[in-house]
Amino acid sequence: MKEIILIKNGEIALKGLNRGNFEDMLIKNCKRHLRSVGDFKFSKAQSTIYAAPVGEPDMDAALERLSTVYGIAALSRAAVTEKDLGAICACAGEYLADQLSAVRTFKVETKRSDKTFPLGSPQISAEVGGWLLDHFPNLRVDVHQPDLVVNVEVRDFGAYVHAGQLPGAGGIPVGSGGRAALLISGGIDSPVAGCMMARRGLEIIGVHFASPPYTSDRALHKVEQLVQKMTPWCGRIYLYVVPFTKIQELIRDNIPEDYFTLVMRRFMMRIAEGIALREDCGALVTGESVGQVASQTMQALACTDTVTALPVLRPVIGMDKEEIVERARRLDTFEISIQPYEDCCTVFTPHHPKTKPKAADLDALEQALDVEALVREAVEAAQGRVFYLE
Ligand code: ATP
Ligand code: MG
Repeated sequence: MKEIILIKNGEIALKGLNRGNFEDMLIKNCKRHLRSVGDFKFSKAQSTIYAAPVGEPDMDAALERLSTVYGIAALSRAAVTEKDLGAICACAGEYLADQLSAVRTFKVETKRSDKTFPLGSPQISAEVGGWLLDHFPNLRVDVHQPDLVVNVEVRDFGAYVHAGQLPGAGGIPVGSGGRAALLISGGIDSPVAGCMMARRGLEIIGVHFASPPYTSDRALHKVEQLVQKMTPWCGRIYLYVVPFTKIQELIRDNIPEDYFTLVMRRFMMRIAEGIALREDCGALVTGESVGQVASQTMQALACTDTVTALPVLRPVIGMDKEEIVERARRLDTFEISIQPYEDCCTVFTPHHPKTKPKAADLDALEQALDVEALVREAVEAAQGRVFYLE
């Protein structure tokens, strides 16, 4: 029996004139995700993308792969048949035989987007339901709480039968909204923040600050593993690793201790901006959440914002740690994030960090350093490496 995957694109349907571009981008992303599974032929019609297998790829693996593609509202694995009532009945009976035999109650739901088909949706449901009752004596109809819903879709190019939809990853296709640079630590929050912005259509570039020997190779490896874990959601990610040791030592030696973290964060923003501009990124993304730590008070965030002209997107800003953790689990980044390796943020941590800093005070303190030259040097020294969806 011929099978197909029906990909329902959610919010894309709202995009008016851009709709074609969005759909093309979604198809491109789906293709990339399915490359390692097998060959599929794509077509689109009526807010649905059809992925038809060529040969016999592993359909379960294909569905799993597609479940992480942003821009997909729902997915169904369906049998394809002719637009003929007899063919639809026989197809439903054969394709869903195991499930129909295993349950006691069912109902049929029909969507008929081909308005030239001679029967209306309720009639199709009634006919298919009657046929199934005749062929599966164990079944009775329950329209309110059926064990199984048999879905029939009569569309332009064929009829489809399936046992329901799986939820898609939601959002809009990665790449449809441009690029942004994610400041990624080894923690829980920043990978979640990056994926949240990818879900809003942004392609993500990673920027990580490493301070060897204060931070180890293993800490860097952890970040690389995290970036790899993000690729099923974000697609290909270019990760820049910025050598940050010299700047941190200069901060330690020249800045009052209670301002260490703030000055360091301002350097991070400036350097990330430098890389972002080179990479044609329109924004920076961080995993900051108000009140989570001393450097994430409103006043501290204001002080970091003033050093960059790019918008700083902070998608987890109003989320509780618990909510962020829940998302990290769903993204499958959590287990890596909680491995106990040091981050450059934990090097030279002040005992009493300023929680209500003023940007003017920071500007004055930073006069002790050649900020511009240090930033330029760090941007130049950043090493890039690309991570692909495996
Ligand atoms: P996370 O869980 O993402 O590490 P956090 O709660 O530990 O966040 P901080 O360590 O204060 O918070 O960092 C806040 C944000 O600053 C991070 O979410 C990340 O965007 C950025 N950041 C922190 N350390 C680094 C780093 N070494 N390289 C790049 N970005 C960093
Ligand atoms: Mg951190």
